[in-house]
Amino acid sequence: MKRFLPVFWITCYGIALVALLIGLELWNGPTEPLARIEWQRGLRRSSAWATVRAEHLRANPECAACGGRTHLAVHHKVPFHVDPARELDPDNLITLCDHPARKCHFAIGHLWSWERWNPDVDRVAADLRKLRAEAQRRVE
Ligand SMILES: [Zn+2]
Ligand SMILES: [Zn+2]
Repeated sequence: MKRFLPVFWITCYGIALVALLIGLELWNGPTEPLARIEWQRGLRRSSAWATVRAEHLRANPECAACGGRTHLAVHHKVPFHVDPARELDPDNLITLCDHPARKCHFAIGHLWSWERWNPDVDRVAADLRKLRAEAQRRVE
């Protein structure tokens, strides 16, 4: 019995710590920047968002700007916090990546500030993919 006591207390402290962190999160709002902007404005995502997001990623499994297939984000061309009515509109969605070296979502989707958005994101992403393919042909 005695040798289980430390395990018991570590578990108790662990649960208390997790509860504290969840409490802080609920109190201060999310830390992820876009989720935070939405939270500050009292906006809540639709319960259908997860499904719509997954369907979009199935149909568009590459970053529209770099062609990457990891760290994918489904970007709202007009952000959810600007026009919540277009949250689930397929025409308002584009796949961009949050790859740490390329940051296509942040740079091309949001012009380096989560408060901003790029009204020309479709064209800029397509141009970049084209330029990248041309540049690749030159080095080959
Ligand atoms: Zn975005
Ligand atoms: Zn990308």
